[in-house]
Amino acid sequence: IPVDAFDLVIFGGTGDLARRKILPSLFRRMRAGQMPATARVIACARGKMTRKAFQQMIREALLEFIPRPEDRPDDLLAQFLEVLDFVALDATGEAGWAELGEKLRPDTVRAFYLSVGPALFGPIAHRLHETGLATADSRIVVEKPLGHDLPSARELNRQLSESFSEHQIYRIDHYLGKETVQNLMALRFANALFEPLWNAQHIDHVQITVSEKIGVEGRGGYYDKSGAMRDMVQNHIMQLLCLTAMEPPARFEPDAVRDEKLKVIRALDPVPIGDTVRGQYRANGTTGSYLDHVENPDSRTESYVALKVQISNWRWAGTPFYLRTGKKLRARLSEIAVMFKEVPHSIFPEVSQRRGNALIIRLQPDEGITLRMTIKDPGPGGMRLREVPLDMTFADALGDMAEEVPDAYERLVMDVIRGNQTLFMRGDEVEAAWAWTDAIIASWEDDRARPEPYDTGGSGPEEALALMHRDGRRWREIE
Ligand code: NAD
Repeated sequence: IPVDAFDLVIFGGTGDLARRKILPSLFRRMRAGQMPATARVIACARGKMTRKAFQQMIREALLEFIPRPEDRPDDLLAQFLEVLDFVALDATGEAGWAELGEKLRPDTVRAFYLSVGPALFGPIAHRLHETGLATADSRIVVEKPLGHDLPSARELNRQLSESFSEHQIYRIDHYLGKETVQNLMALRFANALFEPLWNAQHIDHVQITVSEKIGVEGRGGYYDKSGAMRDMVQNHIMQLLCLTAMEPPARFEPDAVRDEKLKVIRALDPVPIGDTVRGQYRANGTTGSYLDHVENPDSRTESYVALKVQISNWRWAGTPFYLRTGKKLRARLSEIAVMFKEVPHSIFPEVSQRRGNALIIRLQPDEGITLRMTIKDPGPGGMRLREVPLDMTFADALGDMAEEVPDAYERLVMDVIRGNQTLFMRGDEVEAAWAWTDAIIASWEDDRARPEPYDTGGSGPEEALALMHRDGRRWREIE
């Protein structure tokens, strides 16, 4: 179903995020028939550039980021480029704003996507309000980093709220736009099978892993001020935790869903330092160490973190959530693993049932859902048990439809145009998440210990294995 005509203004429209994600996603939506040809996308960026040169730049970006020619037929490419316009505008200066104003159409959905550094969020919001370019129905889109800690996140929320009301502010966490993450909600709340088991009585623990193969090369300056906790846990992993742990909302509506997520964050116990592990990757053969890529040779910033987290509410008391994320690990993998308890009594004592069922929600690579079951090993060899996966890899299960699983940004940008905030974070959610992560970071700062070194290409520091072992559990393989 096509959305209404819209004017989408992308501040920072020549930047990496716009070229790699936002514009290719819009192109795919046009290909899917969802983006009307009457839409306008107006990129604003510093520096002079003609409309033609900008169109050429995006043409090249589309050729690069949508590599298969059959996915970007020439006529469609031409049609898409026609939608694009460019205004040279310095967010902190005077030039360009009037020209932008002339291009915006009345009575058309209007959205401003701030694909620029966070220092510009407040000033741009202010100018949009002051110049009258933002109407009462306009939307503003911002994305991480949404603050560096609780005070800066509050300040950012304050600045945005001076010019926009909460129902106009779309805070992107692109993990929420992933098909599997939305499927987690469908799985939980549209099937009678799981929800009765979805609690501490039946679930032994939950593991959430976001593992990266890449290091901090090229981003060392930014990353060293951030670290895994701020870069991954406060936002993406927190969102996954919330969707896994939240109570069923009364309706699938923005505030109903976000209220439930907020309750989860507020129910998180403070994490004792002994339930945290920080790591930093060391050199391995020809690959450099974390410290080779950052300015400060004594940096104590973590490129890996593992946490044991307790949620103090009726559903989850006693069932820990183990979270881990790191760079330079063996594989690129993001998953939520819900590990069920073993059967209360095994009738096959000679083949002791070693493991309970597990539900694995895989975000990348190969988005999909797997249920680990125990069955009888086929053959006449007696009652031997074996674990098998009931596997639903979207690409296989959905056949041609999933030839390209839609990118998270496709869904999210269209939701902005539709005015649906369900998959966007509310200001109070972001602040609550910072309050919780700030306390952990502060305990590390007091502690002054160095992060544990770990080998590149491995599965993280020994101490993270120990965090599980001492509870008689173990991490799933990163592979
Ligand atoms: P970038 O440096 O590639 O692009 C920045 C863009 O902002 C350019 O178009 C530049 O012309 C414009 N710009 C800078 N100062 C300006 C000013 N004063 N007035 C007008 N335009 C100005 O950065 P990026 O990688 O595209 O990232 C943009 C933002 O999105 C950053 O805050 C980043 O942290 C965030 N982000 C990026 C990614 C990503 O994948 N690149 C992912 C998530 C979040």
